[in-house]
Amino acid sequence: MMDVLESVDALRSKVQKWREAGLTIGFVPTMGNLHAGHLSLVEEARQKSDKVIVSVFVNPLQFGPNEDFDRYPRTFEADKSLLQQYQADAVFCPSVNEMYPHGQTQTLVTAPERMTGILEGEKRPGHFDGVTTVVAKLFNMVQPDIAVFGQKDFQQFAVLQQMVEDLAMPITLIRAPIVRSEVGLALSSRNQYLTESQRLIAPKLFVALQSIEMAIQSGNRNYESLCQSAVQQVISDGFDSVDYIQVLNSVSLEPPGVDDRSLVIVAAAKLGNTRLLDNILVIM
Ligand code: AMP
Repeated sequence: MMDVLESVDALRSKVQKWREAGLTIGFVPTMGNLHAGHLSLVEEARQKSDKVIVSVFVNPLQFGPNEDFDRYPRTFEADKSLLQQYQADAVFCPSVNEMYPHGQTQTLVTAPERMTGILEGEKRPGHFDGVTTVVAKLFNMVQPDIAVFGQKDFQQFAVLQQMVEDLAMPITLIRAPIVRSEVGLALSSRNQYLTESQRLIAPKLFVALQSIEMAIQSGNRNYESLCQSAVQQVISDGFDSVDYIQVLNSVSLEPPGVDDRSLVIVAAAKLGNTRLLDNILVIM
């Protein structure tokens, strides 16, 4: 039977029991509204640890004032039964007050500007402070051996990896591959905001990234012009705007040097008010 833990105290005593029994703990942080992408993280955590804790918490600190915090889909009953089915051992589902008892003005964890001031961070000021702060808090509460995140949020993973290294947190981060729909669209809770006609356009973002990937694999190093063509392509496919399509070094997130062999093609584009993210790792 899966434990449903709402308070930090209940979580800590569960964790302590498992620790005393010598068990390892894998952790999967989520904002709920679970889909096959999240569940792949749960499976990965199960394979790599004795006990799996999943958190479900829509974190107000990582949403901007004009973002979708209020309308973000909350489906806790369905999430619980999926987690039960995928054999999570506990779900940690604190209230906002339990996570931020002193309100949201509190100590912040801030990753380096060179990683948080670009891409998502440039479009969503303060977003990564919210992410690093809540994940650092969750890590202190759960004290896991490993934590599993999705490649889908590529920059988020890079930022969190940097945080873990910089603050010497004794936790191994695992990056799990992107789970996609049959037509190639990266699964996301925000996909349900899409209208029927937008749903037909959405997978074209991945198609555009794949054509950049193919060009790179066949020797083209003119990243800027490849990205410009991809932007034009997705606009003509029907996207309303493109925030960015870029090729970067997959670790530093800086523009790639000529000899870099591990790249990432990252993209964010809008269909109506819905922002879609996608990326492809390119190892040469
Ligand atoms: P979220 O609930 O959107 O904050 O996501 C929680 C975790 O699930 C993050 O580590 C995401 O990167 C990961 N995730 C979301 N969508 C996918 C997907 N399609 N494939 C793999 N992981 C995903």
